[in-house]
Amino acid sequence: MSEPGDIATLLAAVLGDDGGPVTPPIVQSSLFTFDSYRDFEDRMAGRTDTAIYTRVQNPTVAAFEGLMAKAEVGEAAVGFASGMAAISSTLLAFVQPGDKVACVEHVYPDTFRLMERMLRPFGIETAYYPPSRFEDDPDLLEGAKVAYLESPSSVVFQPLNLRRVAEHAQRHGTLTMIDNSWASPVFQRPITSGIDIVLHSASKYISGHSDTVAGVVVSSHANIARIRDLTLPLLGAKLAPFEAFLLTRGLRTLSIRMRQHEATANLFVDRLATLPQVRRINSPGANEVPGLTGRSGLMSVEFDDSVDIPRLSDALKHFRLGVSWGGFESLILPAGVALAQAGEQNSLQKFGVSPQLVRLSFGLEDAEDLWADFEAALTKSVT
Ligand SMILES: *Cc1c(COP(=O)(O)O)cnc(C)c1O
Repeated sequence: MSEPGDIATLLAAVLGDDGGPVTPPIVQSSLFTFDSYRDFEDRMAGRTDTAIYTRVQNPTVAAFEGLMAKAEVGEAAVGFASGMAAISSTLLAFVQPGDKVACVEHVYPDTFRLMERMLRPFGIETAYYPPSRFEDDPDLLEGAKVAYLESPSSVVFQPLNLRRVAEHAQRHGTLTMIDNSWASPVFQRPITSGIDIVLHSASKYISGHSDTVAGVVVSSHANIARIRDLTLPLLGAKLAPFEAFLLTRGLRTLSIRMRQHEATANLFVDRLATLPQVRRINSPGANEVPGLTGRSGLMSVEFDDSVDIPRLSDALKHFRLGVSWGGFESLILPAGVALAQAGEQNSLQKFGVSPQLVRLSFGLEDAEDLWADFEAALTKSVT
């Protein structure tokens, strides 16, 4: 498939040629009425496809879904109330008791919990493998209904050769799903590598403004129709019109924001690499795997034991302590804090993430200001 081009150009072209507003109106209506018995009957029988009820269809949501399908080079898209709603509603539309899921290790922690705490008791078994197994073992996916992927993975950001995984999956008839929140369609369009279904936490880069929690799924007409037939109406975790409006607004600046996040991340990768306290930098960049065209602004760094992580976290001024990422503001998430999440064995422990690891999300602040802040805080926290 040919490269689809810059997202900003692509999406501006979707405005339409018929004049009128350049942004979609917010259609804040729960239901839509009909002119006549005949129109109503035609719609209910599926002969027309206008909106009936906002749990399943809404014009503002549809405008966002249309843009996402274009951005990810899919045939269709469906919005959800959160990234987790998109992930759970997609998995549940395609798996049944007895099915096996092959999942990349270091998956987003709540996705791991979905697999373990909800799908496993329903008789759906998930096994976790490193990227190298997905790439190099052509028979790994034998008998697997779904391959659930992230590239790069969460926390340690291991990238995956999606083209190779898609080839193996096609041979075994395994459905491939990827959480593409990290790269966004600006830096990676997995459908062009042969992946079947692309999922997003739209709360992150797609929103970009830390004011929305939402999700979206992009795939073929047939796959999206299945989700629209089953889990969208029956679990009901729909995207709301106002959130969809904010996400459309976010998409307008996605490519320029991603370039700024990348420039800052590149600067940090170069300079962190020169520091003696840095054990490891987890931050895949352009062309590290086929189809990945940029470095996003979310990475992790593992320091040696001379760095006091709580002191580093408290000394930073521009990096706030918090979860989530992908907004205008820079954030630090120490692994030790994530590990302390109460009451269960989570994926970080299971896969041995060091408490000396911190995740950084670079916002849109000036890169030199961020580096100066980071360097000063690090100096204060080396023991
Ligand atoms: C945040 C996140 C999710 C979950 O999305 P929500 O919108 O918070 O439900 C899923 N995957 C990744 C990689 C995330 O960072």
